[in-house]
Amino acid sequence: VEIAVLRERAVGETRVAATPETVRKLVALGAGVVVESGAGLAAMVTDDDYIAAGARIASSDVARGADIVFGVQGPEIDLLAGVNPGAWVVAGLDPFARRDRVEAYAAAGLEALAMEFMPRITRAQSMDILSSQSNLSGYKAVLVAANLYGRAFPMMMTAAGTVSAAKVFVMGVGVAGLQAIATARRLGAQVSATDVRSATKEQILSLGAKPIFVENVAGIEGEGAGGYATEMSPEYQKAQAELVSGHLAKQDIVITTALIPGRAAPRLISDEQVATMKRGSVIYDLAVAQGGNVEGSVADEIVERHGVRIVGFANTPAQLPADASALFARNLYNFLAAFWDKDKGRPLLDEEIGNAIRLTQGRKVVHERLLG
Ligand code: NAD
Repeated sequence: VEIAVLRERAVGETRVAATPETVRKLVALGAGVVVESGAGLAAMVTDDDYIAAGARIASSDVARGADIVFGVQGPEIDLLAGVNPGAWVVAGLDPFARRDRVEAYAAAGLEALAMEFMPRITRAQSMDILSSQSNLSGYKAVLVAANLYGRAFPMMMTAAGTVSAAKVFVMGVGVAGLQAIATARRLGAQVSATDVRSATKEQILSLGAKPIFVENVAGIEGEGAGGYATEMSPEYQKAQAELVSGHLAKQDIVITTALIPGRAAPRLISDEQVATMKRGSVIYDLAVAQGGNVEGSVADEIVERHGVRIVGFANTPAQLPADASALFARNLYNFLAAFWDKDKGRPLLDEEIGNAIRLTQGRKVVHERLLG
């Protein structure tokens, strides 16, 4: 098969869906790889690096003749002219926001595979783009917040007196939140965290942070299918808001990461709550692209409200282009390799993962979350 790796077109996207390492491995599987000229530049990979790894470079019509097209974000349909019938589009396809594009893939007879729908099962962990990218986001969010903060993170005892430790509060303790906790701890902050899934309490403790949890409220178990959070009861939301309000007013840095798949991100911090925070505090809203956890956060802006800066970079992994690409590219390689059929010389999906990620097939939208 022929795999085409496109240069990303989205504004601010620095990542690339294959690296020389994964090109080498794809070639070893028996695939041909064509990379669009300049695709890796923002991630510090040159065309020559790809050529050395066994890829061909093309400047136009990159997808022509391809059986599989790789992207970080979903390619617009006009970039897919000439692909083979039934070709796979493998990328983060943002299916809810870009339903129009999913329809276009269907109409073009493509098989669109949304990598963000990878099920959370053990064997799919190495293919999970949400995990690999969230991990880096959690780390970077803390560094960016630390940079904007006008004080230090660790407690420092100096001849001129003591500098006190920053208080960091992480809301949403999934993959990004855990990494944010670990990073803030490494920088010497005093860290606390909260989530709706009570299983995270132990994880928070094990990282040396303090869990902040609502107790004894109906509907407290916020874990739904596949380890994802569910929407919480009104009682729970009220109790959580009260608990968090008292805590927030004492924090210097807040990192919010709460997402609910397929829905707008839950609102965790209101403008009123921001107003109770200290001047100079920094909030990093990692959910801004899904509507934001923080009232007033704006995608790709740093907004100042009541003396508090609210950071809303929509694409945080893109701030770590080399590592984010390396992990993303490995996710895609691991995916193809896991399903590679040696005799047929191409990947064949099984039902469990195929049904979870396949959006279009036979010129139709087929994914249950996009029907009904
Ligand atoms: P996510 O990005 O969907 O959400 C981030 C966190 O926000 C989650 O922990 C969620 O519980 C929390 N949250 C949602 N609503 C909230 C609210 N109102 N208040 C506070 N917190 C709220 O989650 P994620 O980072 O992708 O991970 C979720 C879980 O799935 C984790 O336990 C993770 O380890 C697991 N996981 C497993 C696999 C696998 O087995 N293949 C892969 C990825 C993640």
